Amino acid sequence: MQLTDLKGVGPKTEELFHKLGVYTPGDLLYYFPNTYLQFDEPKLIANLQEGEQQAVAGFIDRDASVVNVHGLRLTSVYIHDLSGHMKLTWFNAPFLKHTLTAGHLFIFVGKVSRFNNQLTMSQPKIYKTEEYSRKIGTLEPVYAQTKGLSNQAIVKAVKQAFSFVTPEEDFVPAKLCYNRQLLPLRKAIAAIHFPESLEAFSAARRRLAYNELFLFSLALAMKKKNSTQAKSVYRITRPPEMDVFFQKLPFALTKGQANAIKSIEEDLASGFVMNRLVQGDVGSGKTIVAVAAMLETALNGFQAALMAPTEILAEQHYQKISALLKEFQLPLRCILVTGSLTAKEKRLAYEAIQNHEADLIIGTHALFQAQLDYARLALVITDEQHRFGVNQRKELAEKGQRPHTLVMSATPIPRTLAMLLYADMQVSQIRELPANRLPIKNAVVGENYRNNSYKFIYGEIQKGRQAYIICPMVEPNDTIELENVTEYSKKLRSVFPKDVHIACLHGKMKAEEKENIMNQFLHHDIDLLVSTTVVEVGVDVPNATVMMIENAERFGLAQLHQLRGRVGRSGHQSFCIFVDTKNSENSKKRLSILSSSNDGFAIAEEDLKLRGPGDIFGIRQSGVLNFSIADIYQDKDLLASAAEDARYILSQDPNLEENENIELRKKLDEYRSESYTL
Ligand code: ADP
Ligand code: MG
Repeated sequence: MQLTDLKGVGPKTEELFHKLGVYTPGDLLYYFPNTYLQFDEPKLIANLQEGEQQAVAGFIDRDASVVNVHGLRLTSVYIHDLSGHMKLTWFNAPFLKHTLTAGHLFIFVGKVSRFNNQLTMSQPKIYKTEEYSRKIGTLEPVYAQTKGLSNQAIVKAVKQAFSFVTPEEDFVPAKLCYNRQLLPLRKAIAAIHFPESLEAFSAARRRLAYNELFLFSLALAMKKKNSTQAKSVYRITRPPEMDVFFQKLPFALTKGQANAIKSIEEDLASGFVMNRLVQGDVGSGKTIVAVAAMLETALNGFQAALMAPTEILAEQHYQKISALLKEFQLPLRCILVTGSLTAKEKRLAYEAIQNHEADLIIGTHALFQAQLDYARLALVITDEQHRFGVNQRKELAEKGQRPHTLVMSATPIPRTLAMLLYADMQVSQIRELPANRLPIKNAVVGENYRNNSYKFIYGEIQKGRQAYIICPMVEPNDTIELENVTEYSKKLRSVFPKDVHIACLHGKMKAEEKENIMNQFLHHDIDLLVSTTVVEVGVDVPNATVMMIENAERFGLAQLHQLRGRVGRSGHQSFCIFVDTKNSENSKKRLSILSSSNDGFAIAEEDLKLRGPGDIFGIRQSGVLNFSIADIYQDKDLLASAAEDARYILSQDPNLEENENIELRKKLDEYRSESYTL
């Protein structure tokens, strides 16, 4: 069964599906919607709230008029109900005048605003009353799209896929499904695409989130059984070069940094395998702690590896460490290993690592490819640990002698998760930010403030600073109006003078291209970077002082907090502008939490309290642990249940060998081979 067997999918459309990572009709079942369109009961005009997307039922006063405004054809019409009247406008849709004639009743759905003291909707969708009443209460899926492939086309393909392919067998033991009142798996997969109600959606989402959290907990619990304090063959002592290194750093270490380094040095010299977590908020300076540990290891004649969750971040670490080696004239060799190396580059890199011609090895999870053998790997560091998915320590342990491990994380996580993840770890906390930092100034603004923001950004650029603008999407989407980097960066070129260098960055670009752009930004060849959230983790360009986030209301607050961490990384005053395109009371209230707090976890908790269940889809708090549906903040209780269930199952059947657990065993093996989890 191929994609092209589906009606409406030819070779061209098939290509487009490949772009979305969909290769077979089976993949379509797991191509979950990003968000949904909701159809609420229409409101009275007098009860409409500005800023919200709403439905209104109205009679048309007079036939629609079409006029030319700035070369555009503007269609407008007035409607009324018992409670009041309002104006509706559409651009470039003159044909509507045949539909919108005096006396007729329609349902209009759009964002409500006030203009010249007149309630208006711009570009509302139009429905006949019967058509709309059938949709009330339902949710329509909105998928991530790519140019040339509309939401409607994806919906059609997904619907067909369900009639050809049967989703996988349920792997969660029946008694757990019963105890936790989980929707059967197949039902959940169907309902996540086409939920009949908000409740149906919630039940489906809960089931799928449980799957992820349960597998995750199982994998962790099974791993933990095998780990005990082990003797280490790598005894590492502080080399004399380090005194000079610390003295010559351009800054003095904070107390937290110094303590973390001291604890690490003690661990490395102890004769036991180190297993330590360094936790510190964004910008607290975790990198230097990692670098010091790597240098000490390498100067003792061993190899040290540093793994980052994205190529962008790996590249950045590589650049910075290479520069340090040069500056301090240390006789150490540094190498970068990512998935995008050519076959030849890979072979050369692997050889260098095997022959101990490389001392410091930096990369993505490509560092742990089965074919890659290390000569004397004594230390493994994971940066932004919470971004990875449960097994890589195990994989490493299998790579010969057990190396010391150090993980670094910024995201404060719920206690249940911390207990799962860090039960067997020592923890160093960096509580303070470096002394030279000024607190970031935050502003929540509406769309009408954009031009002022651009002026402000231009001012900063003229002062020699750099800026980020974040948009939620890569490409336009025909069903939800959100800013996308492709069109936004084009638009900005006509807003800013020619001498302002603007570039665009997103996850769908080729690795090389991404690397190039990040490098240019780092070296200040780019002034203004229009990016998706790919820069969310770890990126460090201290000269950047403004971050402007479009459609800020669409993001989880914890994620916005991480994003904001990209600025305020030097002594310069930094600014974060949240553009609230919804501009409703509720979104204002939510976003204002960011101005009043700097604690990522507290921010996430507050956020959840403010939002109703219907508000949660489409907004994920963070990409923590790379779950595709589960979110460690909003599913904190579900995680606790899943962890309890995992412990229970293993207490009954430690190796999952009993008949009722066969499917589970299979699924878990698959999961472990696919995920890089700590
Ligand atoms: P994070 O904890 O988010 O990984 P980084 O290690 O990237 O933070 O550090 C952020 C910035 O702060 C970097 O540019 C780094 O050089 C700088 N920095 C680190 N430690 C100090 C310090 N003690 N004083 C001043 N600046 C520091
Ligand atoms: Mg970092």
